[in-house]
Amino acid sequence: TASSTFNFNAGPSALPKAILEKAQNSMFNYKKSGLSVMEMSHRSPLYEEIHFGALNKVRSILSIPEEFDILLLQGGASLQFAMIPMNFLPKDKKAAYLMSGSWSEKALKEARSIGQAYELSTSKDNKYKSIPNPNVEGVEENTAYIHITSNNTIYGTQWPELPKEFGNQPVFVDASSDIFSQPIDWDHVDLVYAGAQKNAGPSGITVVIIRKELMEKANKDIPAILSYSTHAKGDSLYNTPPTAAIYMLGLMMDWLEEHGGINGIQNINEKKASLLYQMIDESNGFYKGHATKDSRSKMNVTFNLPTEELEKEFLNQAKARGFVGLNGHRSIGGCRASIYNGVPFEHVKKLVEFMEEFKSNNA
Ligand code: PMP
Repeated sequence: TASSTFNFNAGPSALPKAILEKAQNSMFNYKKSGLSVMEMSHRSPLYEEIHFGALNKVRSILSIPEEFDILLLQGGASLQFAMIPMNFLPKDKKAAYLMSGSWSEKALKEARSIGQAYELSTSKDNKYKSIPNPNVEGVEENTAYIHITSNNTIYGTQWPELPKEFGNQPVFVDASSDIFSQPIDWDHVDLVYAGAQKNAGPSGITVVIIRKELMEKANKDIPAILSYSTHAKGDSLYNTPPTAAIYMLGLMMDWLEEHGGINGIQNINEKKASLLYQMIDESNGFYKGHATKDSRSKMNVTFNLPTEELEKEFLNQAKARGFVGLNGHRSIGGCRASIYNGVPFEHVKKLVEFMEEFKSNNA
């Protein structure tokens, strides 16, 4: 049953129970309109309230200054990998990518299908166990923008703080797996994007926060649907938006507000992560963290057991106890506990207890 399931999925991932219940209640008869959220016209006042409400709440939760537009798009972060260079990588310039894992690799690959792009720095030699050096001095002339992946969902690494030294270079951040988990310093970023399905709701909606003046310089020779300006001008209602997902995003923003806003949730997230990492560090090497300590992610805790057989056994027993999603990404194996906003502290505690028990039975 739902009450004995502990969801550590990497995304789509756990949503707060309170939100699922709220959504359930409003699903059949939203505000006594006789319509569910999924059945309304996206041009109706009833939906507009949901839509602009969600946009306002996102702005308020992340303290987004007026110089930025908030767009609610589709196509996931993967579409952003392509839209960014289509809009912002002219033929006579190059884009710089800080390589911290598979998602940075995918982002770079898409950029190269549009124009010229280079690796500004990479931690691949270190098997992406750490984040790379920002290599600010290495920024080439004629660089269009710098691209950073703030949290590496697969490897379980995260920039402890995003670099601030890039000066006037536009900085674009794939924050798919850590947006809404901590504050963002808007002085040093120009575009931040993320699918909602980890920290902020179901899949189907991509939040893009973009400095308005950037759009003036964007490539105009692209299809309207792929241009940021189109969506900014249309208040993200240029075409039919994923209305139900946007409704859920709004509920998540209310929930964050109730949990002390972005600082409140950051606090809770830090507590969850330290509990888990402390257990790993005090396990006498039975559990081994994948990431180097200075690059550890507060969202995705990746670890290995002494042997692959033990890992298999661990995952089997965990599954039988109601723990869901603890297997590592298929590309690197091992174990991974994703502890996004929707994962309660108590569930992390349960996991730590199980890990202790498994260790004492098998060490
Ligand atoms: N970037 C990162 C850091 C991710 O974790 C993911 C999804 N796991 C993506 C990009 C791709 O996102 P989507 O599936 O929403 O396109």
